[in-house]
Amino acid sequence: MSTRLSKTVTIPELAELIDLHLSDSDTDIKNPSWRVLDSSISGRGIFAVRDIKESEIIFRERALLAGPTAHKNSKLNTCCVCYCQLTGNDTDILCKLGCSMPVCENCSISERHSRECETFRRWKPKDLSKVNPHSLRIVTVMRCIFLNEEERKLLISLQANSDKYYRVEVQRAADCFQCFPKQPEMLEWFYRTICVLNTNAFEGRSNVGNHEVFVRALFPLAGLMNHRCVPNATHSFENGETIIVRAARAIARGEEIVTTYAHILWSNLARKIFLGLTKHFMCQCQRCLDPTENGTYLAALLCREPKCKGLVLPIQTKTLQPDWHCLTCNTIFPHAKMARYQDFALNTINNRINTSSVSDMITFINEMCPKFCPPSNYVLVEAKLNVIWRMSRFNKDEYTEEQKQHRDRYRVEILEILKKLGAGDCTLRKLIMEEIQ
Ligand SMILES: [Zn+2]
Ligand SMILES: [Zn+2]
Ligand SMILES: [Zn+2]
Ligand SMILES: [Zn+2]
Repeated sequence: MSTRLSKTVTIPELAELIDLHLSDSDTDIKNPSWRVLDSSISGRGIFAVRDIKESEIIFRERALLAGPTAHKNSKLNTCCVCYCQLTGNDTDILCKLGCSMPVCENCSISERHSRECETFRRWKPKDLSKVNPHSLRIVTVMRCIFLNEEERKLLISLQANSDKYYRVEVQRAADCFQCFPKQPEMLEWFYRTICVLNTNAFEGRSNVGNHEVFVRALFPLAGLMNHRCVPNATHSFENGETIIVRAARAIARGEEIVTTYAHILWSNLARKIFLGLTKHFMCQCQRCLDPTENGTYLAALLCREPKCKGLVLPIQTKTLQPDWHCLTCNTIFPHAKMARYQDFALNTINNRINTSSVSDMITFINEMCPKFCPPSNYVLVEAKLNVIWRMSRFNKDEYTEEQKQHRDRYRVEILEILKKLGAGDCTLRKLIMEEIQ
């Protein structure tokens, strides 16, 4: 179970702490286009204080805390400070002073690394032969030691869901050192930081040089953006530790500036489950209240009645197990039956994605999928997106004209869905448009 740690500052206090924090972010804090206010969506939010044009930069923000994501399967050969790519085997890329962090030559003598290096060496890493993802993941958290008083206040003022499971991150890291801190105040401070990170942090993909890096970063201002399933703002990352928030469409004065915490192409039900489990809330935006999702039918499955080939959609309710309704023959299906069917479609399609070549995938999407899944279903749409990415990133020159035509058609379909949703110049649209150029 998760409980919410209470907030401790008023909005004017918070705004002041955020201004202080933004002063090194190359953003205009004297005349901003936004303001922090109470939000009807949840807690606090960011609001436009003047009309903002489509694609206009709303703010840039440097992370309060950031570090390598260091998930199990992520590449660990990244400098802990500047995120450049490191080459060589593990013993080559680890700091020569024995702190157990991968670090580049330049950063190894930087002031920032020196104090972190000293901290890790004081904790005595157990294994200096390889990069350990658990000790690497705690780097972001450990950096909270070096925050100044205002930055600490800001960190504490951010909403945090606490969850016993979050202590595992500290335990796993502690196992990597002989002298990991034992003082309860220090451990509580780490734990609180992890709760804040898990509630607010962005796990962003950005390019440093030609190297793709994954950074877990806390942006107190960007983190105040509430969620809508069709957001009016979009964000991107620069050099790992800076976030740039732009207007995805024109935003009117007084409107709340919102982002999305879920994948924009997921269906109502898929987003609802994801948001409930990871963010502990139920979205009630216009898209969530419309079973057709602005006529995109992203959730649709085929009717199970013999001879009826109608589309079946979940009935809009507050539960995670709604009944489903056929738009053609009006039959009502219990959730369990349709959930099994949706899982079947999801597993069948995802297995194919993981095991098939691009060429087999195109045949499967075009010839097999229509037999069990409407073309509008989000799982099938995501499969098309997968083909688009694979064709642009790998073996670019190997594809036939016919395969390229299928890819182009998928792109048009997905852009059409985004348009129907009213997503404006959202991140996904940007990525697809960049590829076309
Ligand atoms: Zn570096
Ligand atoms: Zn070091
Ligand atoms: Zn919603
Ligand atoms: Zn039917």
